[in-house]
Amino acid sequence: MRVLVSVKRSVDANVKVGVKRDKTGVDIASLKMSMNPFDEIGVEEAVRLKEAGVATEVVVVSAGVVQCQETLRGALAMGADRAILVESKEELQPLAVAKLLKALVDREQPSLVFLGKQAIDDDSNQTGQMLGALAGLPQATFASQVRVADGKAIVLREVDGGAETLSLTLPAVITTDLRLNEPRYVTLPNIMKAKKKPLEIVTPDDLGVDVVPRLKTLSVSEPPPRAAGVKVADVQALVEKLKTEAKVL
Ligand code: AMP
Repeated sequence: MRVLVSVKRSVDANVKVGVKRDKTGVDIASLKMSMNPFDEIGVEEAVRLKEAGVATEVVVVSAGVVQCQETLRGALAMGADRAILVESKEELQPLAVAKLLKALVDREQPSLVFLGKQAIDDDSNQTGQMLGALAGLPQATFASQVRVADGKAIVLREVDGGAETLSLTLPAVITTDLRLNEPRYVTLPNIMKAKKKPLEIVTPDDLGVDVVPRLKTLSVSEPPPRAAGVKVADVQALVEKLKTEAKVL
């Protein structure tokens, strides 16, 4: 059983980003970039499936600039077997990525595809759902537990006010939530081993996909600054303020 995992190179989760002066976007030049955290969780889950003898091969895919190779090497160091970079300098929006992944699903025929539930840079939360629709595959989003057996994936997912359990017939698309697992740290020997693992580079044209952006960002702005808070002496003072100042009681 082959598992395909998409990994996006995005701004490191611990880096504070700022809006560009001309408000056309977020300034990420020269910031530390890392694997999108939800994708790390996807790689971890796929590698665990391999270690459990359920999966036989883990293939990781990234779409974007040449530096995405570093992200893919990180996934290979976590235990993935081979990597594919769809190299493009174009701004890749969720629909374009979903189409690229669909083309690779057709080529690689995986039984399971893991994506993150969202990329922490654009927060779109769209690519997995679009891939499920384009490929005509069952999908479970926001997975917090995955079990694979007898040609099915049983997925526990968090929904408003509780948990839902879905049974998907494989092949299927699953997007990962934070509670699914805790990704492993990569060790130096595994980083060295990862350098020798296969990394194929293709282009959107090779896959027959038009990646021209369909959406235009009109403006990006910071949230309005918040006034500083105050400390109140006791609960009574807090209630008084909520009544008279905030007027929420
Ligand atoms: P989004 O819909 O942009 O919030 O992204 C959801 C998920 O789609 C991410 O967690 C990734 O697994 C995948 N994805 C989005 N963009 C890319 C990309 N350029 N390369 C690889 N995977 C991506």
